[in-house]
Amino acid sequence: MREDEAGNLIGRREGAVEGAPVVMTGSHIDSVFDGGNFDGPLGVLSAIEALQTMEEKGVSTSHPIEVIAFTDEEGARFSFGMIGSRAIAGLIEAEELENRDKAGVSIAEAMAAAGLDPKEIGNAKRKKEEVKAYIELHIEQGKVLEKENLPVGIVSGIAGPLWMKFTVEGEAGHAGNTPMVMRRDAMTASARMILMIEQEARKNGTSVGTVGQLSLFPGGINIIPGRVEFSLDLRDINEETRDEVERAILTEAERIAEEKGVKLSVEDLQRIPPAHCDEEIQQAVRDAAAEAGLQTMTLPSGAGHDGMQFTGLWPIGMIFARSKNGISHDPAEWTSQEDCAAGAEVLYRTLLKLAN
Ligand SMILES: [Zn+2]
Repeated sequence: MREDEAGNLIGRREGAVEGAPVVMTGSHIDSVFDGGNFDGPLGVLSAIEALQTMEEKGVSTSHPIEVIAFTDEEGARFSFGMIGSRAIAGLIEAEELENRDKAGVSIAEAMAAAGLDPKEIGNAKRKKEEVKAYIELHIEQGKVLEKENLPVGIVSGIAGPLWMKFTVEGEAGHAGNTPMVMRRDAMTASARMILMIEQEARKNGTSVGTVGQLSLFPGGINIIPGRVEFSLDLRDINEETRDEVERAILTEAERIAEEKGVKLSVEDLQRIPPAHCDEEIQQAVRDAAAEAGLQTMTLPSGAGHDGMQFTGLWPIGMIFARSKNGISHDPAEWTSQEDCAAGAEVLYRTLLKLAN
């Protein structure tokens, strides 16, 4: 095992063909605050188990296989995730290492404290021709497989999040002395926009839109809110669809602002394109599951994963294992031993296909 310049932990099993590009697999072992035991570790431990099984069975592969435990996927400490996979893709910038935690410690400082040289992070980058494919087993973190009574699923793509900040400016005023017809209430305008967002996101059946943050100012019980800020997280596995929903939301929000006499400004916080899972890898997973006697289905991932960083560079694929009650990022997160084993078996068989 080695640790690369970004702190990724990498185990490697050589292939029979010298110089053949590597098949990467793995996941992350960091978590969110108060998280569960399966989000991440399942993919790392199953990958180690798959390679151990190859060793025990004396199975060789043409291509080398690497198991990677990626550094800081969740971004819990610095609100900047996927550090390890960004570095492997060569997508990390020096200024991004200046992101700081709540105590004011930067990523660069935390790296130094962990014995890593932040100036060297660029050397974690892998050349395009060095890698053949990336495949990851992860818990679903949703209820679809459970509802369909299936242990594992084939991931069609990873939805890309678009994060925006909406600021609505009206006029603060006395809650007692301002007649209803004379009000420019930023909160009631925002409330209409938030319900509209829910409606627009529901229209196509694949998009998901969430307003998870809301602040109103000045925030007094007897004051009409003069300003409101709220967030939007909008996702779809198809970027064009996401763009369409975004356009509809912005048009409608402007219309509501005009009607209510408030001023609306919208700021982009993050715009990540969705990542498609490679068709051939999807088929390899489908065949692997069939060989293992498992029924499967194809489904999208609403949550982000390390493989997103590799799109455009290498073909990626993902396998989902059923989550109990769809609960994740919570200590109640659970995937049964049988479902973990089914996922690991499909990963093992898929790795053999991709590495030969
Ligand atoms: Zn995860």
